[in-house]
Amino acid sequence: MEKTAATATAKKLNMKEKYAQMTRGLGWTTTYQPMDKVFDQIKFEGIKIHDWDKWEDPFRLTMDAYWKYQTEKERKLYAIIDAFQQNNGHLNVSDGRYVNTLKLFLTGISPEEYSAHRLFAMLGRQFPGVGARVACQMQSIDELRHAQTQVHTISQYNKYFNGMHDFRHMHDRVWYLSVPKSYFEDAMTAGPFEAITAISFGFEYVLTNLIFMPFMSAAAYNGDMATVTFGFSAQSDEARHMTLGIECIKFMLEQDPDNVPIVQRWIDKWFWRGYRVLTLVAMMLDYMVPKKVMSWKEAWEIYFVQNGGSLFNDLERYGIRMPKYWEQTVSGADRLSSEAWNTFYNYAAAANFNTWCPSEENMNWMSEKYPDTFDKYYRPRFEHYREQENQGKRFYNTTLPMLCQCCQIPLVFSEPDDATKTCYRESDYNGDKYHFCSDGCKDIFDYEPEKYVQAWLPVHQIYQGNCFKPGTDPTVEGFNPLAAVLDYYNFGPGDNMDYVGSPDEANWLKWKGLVKEDAPKKAA
Ligand code: FE
Ligand code: ZN
Repeated sequence: MEKTAATATAKKLNMKEKYAQMTRGLGWTTTYQPMDKVFDQIKFEGIKIHDWDKWEDPFRLTMDAYWKYQTEKERKLYAIIDAFQQNNGHLNVSDGRYVNTLKLFLTGISPEEYSAHRLFAMLGRQFPGVGARVACQMQSIDELRHAQTQVHTISQYNKYFNGMHDFRHMHDRVWYLSVPKSYFEDAMTAGPFEAITAISFGFEYVLTNLIFMPFMSAAAYNGDMATVTFGFSAQSDEARHMTLGIECIKFMLEQDPDNVPIVQRWIDKWFWRGYRVLTLVAMMLDYMVPKKVMSWKEAWEIYFVQNGGSLFNDLERYGIRMPKYWEQTVSGADRLSSEAWNTFYNYAAAANFNTWCPSEENMNWMSEKYPDTFDKYYRPRFEHYREQENQGKRFYNTTLPMLCQCCQIPLVFSEPDDATKTCYRESDYNGDKYHFCSDGCKDIFDYEPEKYVQAWLPVHQIYQGNCFKPGTDPTVEGFNPLAAVLDYYNFGPGDNMDYVGSPDEANWLKWKGLVKEDAPKKAA
């Protein structure tokens, strides 16, 4: 007996055994408290799990190895960020306008990395299965790292450009930032199985490539090596995250046939919510990056229609079909970015970045990429804006728009079959009327109205007087509500409005030695 034990300790464990010892071996059945009480969120969603040991961990990564890999990545990343800062890398971007995509990224995406960090920490606590729990813990740490590296990278730009100085504060207040914020909060307040479907599958597996691939190549093409570097560093964690996404879906589907309709409903919901958040990415690609890499429509075709299509072909054997309303995302690809940029152009006074009327070159590119829609619907509109600008009548919309109760985007999207008509849906609940931007958003509300009636809708909050700093008196004569709201956002001069005539533009021209005597007169 003794001899056997001695041999067992002497024997070197292979990778698989070592992994099992360091992960699966860590789970146990609780005795002081019943398992149901320790893992109290695991049943109410209706998902049935019979055997957590069936969970596959394709990476077999131990915590020990995890820290080693990540440390190495961090070392490389920070070496590049240091060099970027010391060499004034911000001066190498294609144009000052480009930096506006980083303002959008820092206030709209980076705080969601932090939300994802919190969400996965919660999931790591909630799942009784050790394989799932370890994967969630690692992802939780990854997401914290993503938030930090993005903040550190973009801090260089913050020294020289406006709109980034108070990104956390803005994230929780600025109207359009409630779109990504509410997406993650919706996931965080769901049960653990829905939360992991929302983020790991819906976001990471189906949609994340839409943010990272085209946006990072756009960053590279526009000379922003710092962003490319954190992008690649994050993308290398992404393989693990995407695997977690597909693993959790397959696991639920294989564990019990009763899980299939529940999972399908979550896929439908989170696909639509994710697609709505990607509106911001569409606009970045088509209007905001000075040097274009691919159009939104091309990106959607590659990363959703083709890649997503083959994914859903694979899932068919489990009884899973394409997400509901996916056809609308394909027909809408011709209009999404233009509808979005038009909106931001209108509301640039209240956004923390600068907007502009697209240049002739940008419009020609749009005509080429969107032959069925751009010249017909959007070019005339932008030409009209340009004409107004030239007459010194730059139009800023000061009436606040109606927001969708679900995705919280203003009702600016067109009907799936008519680009000239605003898409509008409504539902009645408990004697009140609620408004939606689409069938997808209405469906999500109708299934769980008691959740979405609680939404903190920026426009409603402004009109109710909840978006002024303490001590503000809206009854004083000459009270300017917009100025008070911008003060509540902690906006400073130059954070909003047009790029042309902005402090960012003036600085950029000066740094690049582009100020000419005959430079066009800037708008007041
Ligand atoms: Fe991340
Ligand atoms: Zn909506």
